[in-house]
Amino acid sequence: MEKSEDKHTLNILLVEDNELNQKFAIAVIRRLGYSYELAENGLVGLNKFKEGNFDLILMDIQMPEMTGIECTIAIREYEKSKQIQNPIPIIAVTAFAMDQDKRNCMEAGMNDFLTKPYKPYDLELKIKNFFP
Ligand code: MN
Repeated sequence: MEKSEDKHTLNILLVEDNELNQKFAIAVIRRLGYSYELAENGLVGLNKFKEGNFDLILMDIQMPEMTGIECTIAIREYEKSKQIQNPIPIIAVTAFAMDQDKRNCMEAGMNDFLTKPYKPYDLELKIKNFFP
């Protein structure tokens, strides 16, 4: 028998320091019916991740206090130390779109990459790729 799946609202951690980018992402997230929490830099993002219960992270790269790369590395180390079985999907959302930038994100432990500026549907596709 198939297991019936709970209709669970995705809870997204948005790690982004730029106000306009925050507003844009939040508008898309809301329109998709997901819930979210905002972290204005990588350090806040890391702490919120540790305290919260998130399904997915949208991660800016260039931020004060702690970059998206540093934050991702810290999250992956934390998951390892806690022996968390299912690492959280992390999508880089950044204007840095060179191949080397993408490689840096993947090497840090991110799962996907979205280039800014993006259209609402681009973000929707990236999220639904992890949660069909
Ligand atoms: Mn930024």
